[in-house]
Amino acid sequence: MEVKQFQAESKRLLDLMIHSIYTHKEIFLRELISNASDAIDKLHYRSLTEENVKVDSAAFEIRIDLDKEARTLTISDNGCGMTKEELESNLGVIAKSGSLAFKQENEAKEDIDIIGQFGVGFYSAFMVSDKVTVISRPYGSDTAYKWESEGADGYTIEECQKDSYGTTIILHILENREEEDYDEYLDSYRIQGIVKKYSDYIRYPIKMMVEKS
Ligand code: ADP
Ligand code: MG
Repeated sequence: MEVKQFQAESKRLLDLMIHSIYTHKEIFLRELISNASDAIDKLHYRSLTEENVKVDSAAFEIRIDLDKEARTLTISDNGCGMTKEELESNLGVIAKSGSLAFKQENEAKEDIDIIGQFGVGFYSAFMVSDKVTVISRPYGSDTAYKWESEGADGYTIEECQKDSYGTTIILHILENREEEDYDEYLDSYRIQGIVKKYSDYIRYPIKMMVEKS
């Protein structure tokens, strides 16, 4: 297992997310679903342009799984996946969304503004999680890697098993704190509401197992 540090810029954005007092933390799900959708788009495009890429486009999907006991919210896609190098360069480096540049130019403004106005990307997961695990296998490869981080201290990366191509992101949801409820992100009804609110336009099916009531 390799233990690595984030680049200084990433660390700043991460700190911003971890200490965020933003009231609409729910947008983390929009960010992760949009990344999953982008990854499927990429693989779909490759399947149309590269002869050796053969995928059944009817099988494209994004899955959400909740585990209250383990306090995990898992988002899986069967998109392009990431190599070890891509995991490191895409998740270890600040999002291209420009939110940090904006923050620097508008230092006086509240954090709230940038989070609301810009896509904050993958790191927004740290607004609701104390640990984020990304397991990814690129299309066409047998090798999968696991990237894991508990925040600004850095991340680890190691080879692991994954049955099929795509990416699985496991959020370990924070414990409730005074005035701050995180249990809601383990509630399927609440999650369905968030998906409907922000991700209704996504063109791939978003599937979630729901307990019978
Ligand atoms: P952005 O989406 O604006 O590029 P993000 O922080 O949301 O920024 O994501 C960073 C990068 O990580 C993406 O550009 C993409 O390359 C990679 N990535 C994130 N999630 C996934 C995923 N589910 N599958 C494949 N690549 C991903
Ligand atoms: Mg994104």
